[in-house]
Amino acid sequence: MSQHPNIVHVAVPRPLRTTLTYGIANEHIPAIGARVIVPLGKQLSTGLVLKVESRPPSPDENFELKPIQQVLDETPLPDPSWLELLDWAARYYHYPIGEALFSALPVTLRKPKPLSARMLKLLAIPDANPPSPPAGEGLGMGGNLLTLSDEQQLCLQTIQQWSQSDNPRPTLLHGITGSGKTEVYLRLIAPLLTAGRQALVVVPEIGLTPQLLERFTRFFPGANIVCLHSALSDGERLKTWLLARSGQANIIIGTRSAIFTPAPQLGLIIVDEEHDTSLKQQEGFRYHGRDLAVKRAQMLHIPVVLGTATPSLESLYNVQAGRYRHTRLQQRPGVAKPPSLQIQDCRPFALEAGLTPPSLQAIRATLQRGEQVMVFLNRRGFAPALFCPSCGWQASCHHCSVNMTWHARRNRLVCHHCGAEQATPAECPSCHNPKLTTQGQGTERLELVLQNTFPEFPVVRIDRDSTSRKGELEDKLATVRSNAPLILVGTQMLAKGHDFPNLTLVIILDIDQSLLSTDYRALEKLGQLLVQVAGRAGRAEKPGQVILQTSQPQHPLLHQLVGHGYTPFARQLLEERKRWHFPPFGYHALIRASASSMEKATKLLDHISQQLADSGFDIQRLGPVPAPLEKRANRYRAQLLLGSHQRASLHNAVKFILANETKLPGRSSVRWSVDMDPMDFT
Ligand code: ADP
Ligand code: ZN
Ligand code: ZN
Repeated sequence: MSQHPNIVHVAVPRPLRTTLTYGIANEHIPAIGARVIVPLGKQLSTGLVLKVESRPPSPDENFELKPIQQVLDETPLPDPSWLELLDWAARYYHYPIGEALFSALPVTLRKPKPLSARMLKLLAIPDANPPSPPAGEGLGMGGNLLTLSDEQQLCLQTIQQWSQSDNPRPTLLHGITGSGKTEVYLRLIAPLLTAGRQALVVVPEIGLTPQLLERFTRFFPGANIVCLHSALSDGERLKTWLLARSGQANIIIGTRSAIFTPAPQLGLIIVDEEHDTSLKQQEGFRYHGRDLAVKRAQMLHIPVVLGTATPSLESLYNVQAGRYRHTRLQQRPGVAKPPSLQIQDCRPFALEAGLTPPSLQAIRATLQRGEQVMVFLNRRGFAPALFCPSCGWQASCHHCSVNMTWHARRNRLVCHHCGAEQATPAECPSCHNPKLTTQGQGTERLELVLQNTFPEFPVVRIDRDSTSRKGELEDKLATVRSNAPLILVGTQMLAKGHDFPNLTLVIILDIDQSLLSTDYRALEKLGQLLVQVAGRAGRAEKPGQVILQTSQPQHPLLHQLVGHGYTPFARQLLEERKRWHFPPFGYHALIRASASSMEKATKLLDHISQQLADSGFDIQRLGPVPAPLEKRANRYRAQLLLGSHQRASLHNAVKFILANETKLPGRSSVRWSVDMDPMDFT
C-alpha cells in the first residue's frame, strides 16, 4: 500500500480551466470516470474523476487535500473513449473541462445521486448475451426493400471498400437532393449490426428525426434503434444514454449533441446534411457536431460518412487537400429528375405579398394540375415592421436594436431576438395618428394573401408559430403527404429532409439580403439553402420547377449557381476565400463580449487585442466592432475576430488570452466568450 496521499483530480461543472484535487483513503479510491461528491467552497458538487495519483504533494500543493465526500458510481458510467473525446473537445473549443463533461451527461447524471437500481439494470448486460443479434432473427432487414440503382450500388461498394482500411479517411458523400443517400446509409449500417457493432447517425434538426426513424425501423425491424433529441424527458434521455452505453442500442439517431453518446461498440458514424450550420452549437460549449464526428471516428479508427447535397466549403477543401475521400450520387433513382431552376427579376412588377404576377400564375397552373406548391419565406409573423406613415415612428424592441415583428393573428408585436412581446398600439405613440402601416412580408401575410387569392385550395403554413402545439407539425405534414393539391407556406423548417412526392413548384422569396450581406459565410449558406429548398420539388415522377424571385437578378454567383450548379458555385466561393485567407484557408476565432454599454464591451476586447499585439503574437486582429445585432436583450454586443494561417498559433493566442483573463478591465460586468471556427456572426 502506498505511503503517499492519493491525489484525485476531479472535474466539476464550474467555469474552471483545470480540475480540482481531493484526497481519499486507499480503500475507497474511485475509478476514472466515476462520479463523486466533493466539497466546493461552502457547497457540495458532483464531480467526475479524471485522474488518480499517489505521490508526495508538490510544494505548491502542500496543503491539506479536502476529502471526497462520496463515490457515486462503483463502475464508471462514461467509457475511456468518451472521456478522451470530451477532453479533446474542451481543449479545442477552449471550454472549461468540467462544464464540457457535464453538459454532455444526461441531466439526471449531473445530480449528486447514485444511479437507481432500475437504471443500473439497463447497464448490466449478461455475458452470455452479447449485443450481437440472435441468429436468424432480429436485426435482419425488413421486407419491401428498394433495389439500389447502379449508381447507389457503386457508391455503397466504394465506401465499404474504403472502410476496410485500418485507419479510414472520412468520406464525403456528395449526393444531390433525393439521390437516395439515406438508402446508402442503411446498407452501410446493415453489416455492422450483424457484427454486433453500433452505428451513430447525426442529423441537424429534430424535425427530421421522426421520418428518419420510421425509415430505419422499417429497414431494421428487429434492431434496437434509439433517438436522442431535445424533446426527450430527463428520464427518457438517461435510459437512451444507458442503452447506448451498454451496447444494447444498435443504432443511435440524434441531433448534434448525440455525438457525445457513449457507444462502446461504435463502428460507424454518419453525419447527414454535414454542411448544416445548426450542427454547430451557438452558445455555451460551441462545438461543431460534424467536426467532432470526424475527430471521434479518427480516435476510434472507424469510418465516418458526411452526407450532403451541398458540401460545406470546409469539406470540399478537405477533399481537395486529400484528407477526405469523395464519392458522388448525381442522379435521382427511378424516374425523378432534378428540378429546373429559374431566376425571376421582380423589379418590373407590383408585388402581391411579395409574389410577382408570373409566380402567381405558376401557382395557379400547378394547383389546377392537381399538384402542390411551396412558397418559401424565411420570416415568420405578418410583417417585419410596423410604422407610422405620418411621423416615421417605428415599433422597435426596447431591449434590442431591431424592429419588432407584427403578428396579426395574435395582434401583438414580437421581438424575434429576445422574445419580448407587447400589445399592438391603437395609434402612433408619437403623433397619435390612428393609421399605422406595415412593411415587408412574413409567412402570416403570405398565408392570408394566398388564401384570398386561391380560396378553393388549402394553404398550410409551417413555421415555429404554427407548429408550437404538440402534434401540430405532424398533422400538417400528414395533410401535405395526402398529396391533395395545396399551397405550403414555410420557413427554414421546411428546407430540408422532407419528401413530398406531389410537390412540383417551389417559389423562393426574399433572398436579396443574403446576396448583399457582408458575412463571408452568407453566400455559402444561401447557395446551400436554395439547393436544399429547390430539392423539395419534383421528388417523384412529376418534374419540379423552382422560381427564385430577386431584385438582384444579375448577381454573378446566383447565375453560377442556377446555370452550373452547386459545385462550380462552391469552387468559386473557395477561390474567394483563398484570396482573403478566410476559412478554410485560414483559421478564425471570434471573441464576443456583451455589457450594459457598448463602451464596456469594446474596452475589454480592445484590451485583449492590445495584449496580443504587445506580446508579439502573429495573429490577424479585426475589430473590435459592434456586432451586426448591436443590442440584444438589453446588452450591447461587440466582437473581435482573430485569424491565422496556423491553427496552432490561433490556439496559442486564445490560451494566452485565457491565462491573462484576470487582468481584463471590467471583467465582472462584461460577459465574454471564445468561439473557435465561428459560423455565425450576428
Ligand atoms: P436523399 O437522402 O439523398 O435526399 P433519399 O434516400 O431520401 O434521398 O431518397 C429520396 C427518395 O427516393 C425517397 O423517397 C426514396 O424512397 C427514393 N429512393 C431512394 N433510392 C431508391 C431506389 N434505389 N429506387 C427507388 N426509389 C428510391
Ligand atoms: Zn406618428
Ligand atoms: Zn428584443
